[in-house]
Order: sequence, then C-alpha cells, then structure tokens
Amino acid sequence: MQKDLSRLLRDPKLIPSDKRNLLLEIASQAESLGMPCYVVGGFVRDLLLRQPINDFDIVVEGDALRLGKLLAEKYGGKLTPHRKFRTAVWTPPSTFDLQSSTLDLITARSETYSRPGALPTVKPAAIEDDLRRRDFTVNAMAIRLDGVHFGGLFDPLNGQADLKSKSIRTLHPRSFMDDPTRIFRAIRYEKRYSFILHPSSFALVNPDSLAVLQTLSGKRIRHEFDLIFEEENSFAMLARLDELGVFRALNLPNFNADYARFLKSAPPAEFGVAADEVTAGYLLWVADSTLSAVESLSRRLNFPSALNRACESIVRLRRDLASFKNSKPSGWTFHLEQFPPLAVYVLWLVSGEPALKEFLVKWRHVKSITTGGDLKARGLTPGRRYGEILTALRAAWLDGEIGSLDEERRFLNSWAD
Ligand code: ATP
Repeated sequence: MQKDLSRLLRDPKLIPSDKRNLLLEIASQAESLGMPCYVVGGFVRDLLLRQPINDFDIVVEGDALRLGKLLAEKYGGKLTPHRKFRTAVWTPPSTFDLQSSTLDLITARSETYSRPGALPTVKPAAIEDDLRRRDFTVNAMAIRLDGVHFGGLFDPLNGQADLKSKSIRTLHPRSFMDDPTRIFRAIRYEKRYSFILHPSSFALVNPDSLAVLQTLSGKRIRHEFDLIFEEENSFAMLARLDELGVFRALNLPNFNADYARFLKSAPPAEFGVAADEVTAGYLLWVADSTLSAVESLSRRLNFPSALNRACESIVRLRRDLASFKNSKPSGWTFHLEQFPPLAVYVLWLVSGEPALKEFLVKWRHVKSITTGGDLKARGLTPGRRYGEILTALRAAWLDGEIGSLDEERRFLNSWAD
C-alpha cells in the first residue's frame, strides 16, 4: 500500500501557496497528456523531514518536453529544452511569484557509465529505473502528482527508513566509483541534516573511489566546493571531507579551522561590499597561502579569472600589510583601490588590520570637491597634470591636511604657483 502524502502536499506551512498551485497545475496538465508525473528527489526528502521546500524536480514517464511545451503554452514563462535527453527547464511566469525559481522537467531515464567518472549514457525508462540512477536512498523517492494518484509516495529503495535512522546510503556499491562527486553530496547532506554516512557507504569512500575523484575536471570539483560554501554548515563539511581524505587525494591545501567562524560573515552594510559567500569561502581558504599555492589551486580547480584575481589579491595584500603599517591613509587607499573590495574585506576579517576597515568604510569614498571642470575654469590646460592635481588634493583630504573648500582652494593656489 502506497503512503498517501496528499495532506502534506496541501499543507501551507510546508509548501507556500504559489508553489502548491504550480504543482497542482503541473499535475493537471500531465493528467491531460495521460503521462504519469512525479515530483522527486530533494522535494520529497525535505517534505518528509518537514523542512522548507526549495526547487522541485518533476519526472514524467513519457515525454517531459511535451509537458514543458504545454505548460509554456498555457501559462507563459520561458522553456529551455534539451532535446537529446527529452528534458526541459521551465521558468514559470512571474504570476506564480516563485522568486525566479526554475523547474526541471525530466523524462524518466536510466543511466549507465561507460567508465568510472564519465558522464552517464541515458535512455528513457520507468520511474523506478529513474530512481535507481540516483545518489542516495533519501533522494530516491517520488510522489505521484497526476489525477487520482495525487500524493502517492513511491519509495522502492526504502528511503523513508534511512530518513528515520538519519542515514545517507548509496544505492549500490559502485556508486562513488561511477560518480565520485557523490562523495561531496553525501557530506553536504550529512552535515546539513545531522545525518551520518551509513557504514556500508562510508566503506566505499576508499582508495579506489578517491582515485576516480582525481580524474574529475577542475570545474566539476569546484562546483562541489561552491555548493559547500553556500551551505550554513560549510566548515563541518570541509572538515569531514578532510577526514575522509578528499583534500589529500586531490592534493588540495587544507582549510584553516581558525577561519571557520568567518565563513558566514557577510559584510555589514557600512562596508559597502557585495556579499558573496562562495568567493569569500575561497578567499578564506587561500588567505594564508603563497602565490604559487594559489596558482596551483587555481589551475586544479580551473578558477574563472575573477576568482583567480580575488585569490591572488588577498595573498599579495597580506604580504604587503607589514610594509604599509605606518603608511598614511592616502598610501593605503591608493594601494588598496587596485584590489577587489571583497578581498580587502576578507583580509580585514582574518588580520583585524583597522586600516582595511577604514579604507572600505571611509577612505575610498573620499573625493576632492574640485573637479576637472573646475581646473579648466581656472585656466589650466587639460592633460596629465589634472590627474596629478586631483590625486594630490584627494591625498590631502585623506591625510587630514585639508578639511574644507577654503583649504582646498588655498591648496590649489599653492599648486598653481
Ligand atoms: P539540494 O537540497 O542540495 O539542492 P537536491 O536533492 O534538490 O538537494 P539536486 O542537486 O538539485 O539536489 O539534484 C536533484 C536530484 O537529482 C537529487 O535529489 C538526486 O536524486 C539526483 N541527483 C543529483 N545529482 C546526482 C548525482 N550526482 N548522482 C545521482 N543522482 C543525483
């Protein structure tokens, strides 16, 4: 007998009404096409855990593209089809008020791996096969949506029992060999929900699967770290990865435990620095490193250029701190301005150097009142000298040598002499 979750699906405390309405619309369109349709994966897991639901993945037995087209025709929004796999991503119109969420519409499929760590070969299949290709039992449950079946829980791999015993368990012994990114996924779920990797799955994080991990592209590995830095409990996840030998296997430097407390330190508004917990995570990771260590991490994880620049910046800036110790505010400002503000902020977190905060909060906003236009009005010929004068004026303001328009005028007169 299937468990009936229709009441949970209708519970406004668990699923906000916009999401629920959307789910019901999808269910009715799938029914009109005569396609069995399910919501799967994290949605089901989080619903059973009574956790807030984020995105939802829809699987249909049949053709998810047809369902996607019908939804887009009926309700609008944007459909991005992937014809090869008969899947689509649908961005529902803003009338559903989903805060720009997207919906994955997937044609139920089975997957096979041509070699460990390769991307899978897929073919259309029934829902049960689709659940069998997934990572963990707790992620391999589905709730049927269409017609009279609405709310029926499909749990062929007994994910409910593992949810109860708080276990993360792979579906088969080759799971981490097929796709070692699942090691990261397992740790994310462990530490997010205070679960534990089931002993039989723990044993699969072994030299063989760690060896396959080493063959993954930098981009795939980086994506896993990005997801960790977005999590509330990111340091516990990094520590667990270390314990399982992942850092060693990938030849990556360790994350300094002293900096764990800074991982969730979003810049206060007065700093005027855009929050970016992923970049901040990498900055904390490399804050004690040398430039050559940053270079090799960047190469291994295939850092995009902005991330590479931010990481190099924090290392350079940290190296420069001692020599700037007795500098005037203008000296600090003209130097720090060349680097991304987030790198300066993270360096402030780890070093506590007050000048870094002064720079972000005050100094970098200090400008002279006089502009290039004023200099022209004074009869100066435009050219390089403009820049020099304005820079000198700004330095004088920063260093407290002038503090009013009158003083600024006197300062300019002395330059004109
Ligand atoms: P999260 O809350 O972290 O987003 P999620 O379960 O929604 O968790 P997604 O990464 O969005 O995770 O993936 C959706 C579903 O796809 C998962 O629940 C799982 O069933 C399946 N899945 C994702 N990645 C893999 C993988 N590497 N191997 C097998 N199944 C996977």
